[in-house]
Amino acid sequence: MQHPNTELKFVNPEVGYGVFATQFIPAGTIIYARCSLDIAISPSSPLLADPAYRDLILKYAYTNSDGNYIICWDIGKYVNHCCHASAVSTGYGFDIAVRDLQPGDEITNDYAQFSFDEEMDLVCHFPDCRKKFTRQDFGRLHPYWDEQVKAALKKFPQVPQPLQPYLEPHAASDLQHYLATGEGYRSVRNLRPW
Ligand SMILES: [Zn+2]
Repeated sequence: MQHPNTELKFVNPEVGYGVFATQFIPAGTIIYARCSLDIAISPSSPLLADPAYRDLILKYAYTNSDGNYIICWDIGKYVNHCCHASAVSTGYGFDIAVRDLQPGDEITNDYAQFSFDEEMDLVCHFPDCRKKFTRQDFGRLHPYWDEQVKAALKKFPQVPQPLQPYLEPHAASDLQHYLATGEGYRSVRNLRPW
């Protein structure tokens, strides 16, 4: 489930569509929450061997910690990559805004958080774009993502959270415990099995 104050917009023919804020969304806001309407495809699904579906799945799905391919049922599947992403996927089943988003700002993720591929080409408009993702990037970058998530979570209790009802109950409980005590943080590291 994508944050309600976002919209789908056409960017350009190379990038295609992207997801943009329609109103101010402060850092610390849940931008996307994994929800029961998302489609989960097992890695053993025959759909992944079917040429009619395989490319669509690989294009639109992200992969989660249990190895499934998840296709967001709404505009979440159009969120683009950025090497300086505005949202970071957490260990709690949601993505969090790591900086304030003004109306018109793009919601982006670092695809290195989502892919099981050995490597993947990356495109963003930053001059220091990494250009390519390899599996090693996850191990190198997850401490940085954890720092970003922890900083954003400090603001979590003070900002509107329209997606909070969609959090998985166990994750929500773990999050409340962390926010209350500073202990038991669920690292981004848990998103990958290697
Ligand atoms: Zn880039």
